[in-house]
Amino acid sequence: VEELERESRALQNSLQEEQRAAMIDALTGVPNRAAYDDRMAHEFARWQRHGGTISIAAWDVDNFKSINDEFGHMAGDKVLHILGQHMARSVCGTDFVARYGGEEFVMIMLGVDAEQALKICNKTRTGIQAIAFHFRDKPVTVTASCGITTFRMGDQPETAFERADSALYDAKNGGRNRCVVR
Ligand code: GH3
Ligand code: MG
Ligand code: MG
Repeated sequence: VEELERESRALQNSLQEEQRAAMIDALTGVPNRAAYDDRMAHEFARWQRHGGTISIAAWDVDNFKSINDEFGHMAGDKVLHILGQHMARSVCGTDFVARYGGEEFVMIMLGVDAEQALKICNKTRTGIQAIAFHFRDKPVTVTASCGITTFRMGDQPETAFERADSALYDAKNGGRNRCVVR
């Protein structure tokens, strides 16, 4: 019986480890899209029941294709890893960052209104701009843009994300390296 219990415990541990790994993006080490969907569903349900304030930010690295083209895909991968870690550090403990896809990240900020979210994101953005990247001994500045929105009456996770995404579109059209609230 003892032997069986030990085996079952080991199995349970490796299962838990696998489940955890399935929610982490291997390249950047931050939560992935599935983890975002999970966390968002959870926070959305809580918001519907208890109210409160939730802001989200949709991020996209500026002109990332040209980094790949100029310095190679591996350099691009390194940039993504560093940016993911930077973003994870720039939100507070109860907040959440995920790699949403390719060179796109998403933040969930709890108890944070649009004005506060804009401050947080602008700090993140200027922090990204200040990272001293070097490729072939050449200093390179990387920037990112984001679209911010706060959940409002009638929102679903998808409608809020679409609004953040259209604010991101405005940030790109407005010249990049900026955060826009909608
Ligand atoms: P914009 O400022 O409009 O966002 O320009 P952009 O060049 O960033 O946009 P675009 O969508 O044209 O290019 C995104 C690029 O991101 C293209 C794709 O090859 C690259 N990319 C996506 N995922 C990865 C990845 O995991 N590693 C690397 N190195 N590149 C990636
Ligand atoms: Mg993109
Ligand atoms: Mg981009």
